[in-house]
Amino acid sequence: MTHAWLFVGPPGSGRSNAAKAFAAALQCPRGGCGTCNDCRTARSGAHPDVTLLRTEKLSIGVDEVRDLVSRANVAPMNGRWQAVVVEDADRITERGADALLKAIEEPAPKTVWLLCAPSADDVIVTIRSRCRELRLVTPPVEAVANLLVERDGVHEGIAWYSAQAAQGHVGRARALALNDEVRSRRMRVLALPAKLNALSDCLNAAANLVEEASAEATALTADLDAREMADLQAALGMATRGAKARGAQGAIKDLEEQQKIRVKRYQRDAIDRALTELTGWYRDVLAAQTAPGVRFVNSDLADQIIPFAQRTRPEQTVRAIDALLACRQALERNVAPTLALEAMLVELGRASH
Ligand SMILES: [Zn+2]
Repeated sequence: MTHAWLFVGPPGSGRSNAAKAFAAALQCPRGGCGTCNDCRTARSGAHPDVTLLRTEKLSIGVDEVRDLVSRANVAPMNGRWQAVVVEDADRITERGADALLKAIEEPAPKTVWLLCAPSADDVIVTIRSRCRELRLVTPPVEAVANLLVERDGVHEGIAWYSAQAAQGHVGRARALALNDEVRSRRMRVLALPAKLNALSDCLNAAANLVEEASAEATALTADLDAREMADLQAALGMATRGAKARGAQGAIKDLEEQQKIRVKRYQRDAIDRALTELTGWYRDVLAAQTAPGVRFVNSDLADQIIPFAQRTRPEQTVRAIDALLACRQALERNVAPTLALEAMLVELGRASH
C-alpha cells in the first residue's frame, strides 16, 4: 500500500471528490459501496478514521500541518486505515511542508495521506517526489452535460450550454445551469471586450469587475460570518452575560481576521473566474482568425465573436491572451486587484481595435 498519494487535475475535475471516495473505499468493508455508514461518513468528514482538511485560507501553515500529523499518527479506531485528505496541498507553506515531509517519509503503518492539487508542479518538490501521483483528466462536455441532466434534472439545452461554457469544470457547470445570476454575470463579463473603446471604458470595467467580485464574495460569506460570530460569542458567554471573558477579545479578533482572509479568497476566486471566461472568449476569437471550423467554447456568442475576429488581427488576440495571463500572475503575487485588472483591460482595449 502506498502511504502518500497526490491527486492532481484542473479545477473542477473532481480531485477532492476522488480522494474522498478513495478514503471511503479504504474504510468500507465492501471496498467502497458508496452507501454504507463507513462510506457516507468518510465522505462527509464524520468518520473517526478520516480527516478532511479543507481550508478557506490562502495558505496552510506549519501549525495546521503539525496538527494533522499528530492526528495521522493515531491508530485507526476500526483497525483499517487512518486516512488524511488535504484538499489544497498546493497551499501548504514551506515550513508546513517540512513538517509533513517527516510524516510521509516515516508513515505510521496504517496511515494514508491523500493530497490534492491542481498539478504536481504546485506541490513542493520534496513532498511530490514521495507521493504516488494520480492524474485526473478534464471530463468532456458531453459527460458533464449528461451529469447535469441525470443528477440535477437540468433541461438538456441549458445542460449543454452550461457544460460547454464551464469547459469541463463540473461545479461551475452546475452553478451556471442552476443559477440565473451566475449566467448573467458571465454574459456581463463576456460583453466587455467589445466595449473597450476609450481608456475610461477600461478603467470603469476594472472597477466594475472588482466591485462585482466583492459583492459576490460578500454574498457568499455574510451569513456564514454572522453565524460563526454568534456561535463564538455564545461560546464565550458574551451573548447571555455580557461578560468579557479573558481572551474573548483575542478570539473574536482571530475570527474576524480569518473571515477577512476568506472573503478575500472568494473575491480572488470570482476574479479568477472572470479571467477564465475572458481567456475562453479570446481563444474563440483566435480560433475564428486562424483555425476556422474549430468549435467555440462560447458558441452561444458566435455572432459577437466572428465580427470581432474579422476586425482585429491574430497578433492582437495573442496580446490580449498574454495580458490575461500577466494579470493572473500579478494577482498571484498579491498585486492589488484593481491595479492588475486596469493594466489588463487597457491592454485588451488596445487589442480590440
Ligand atoms: Zn461502503
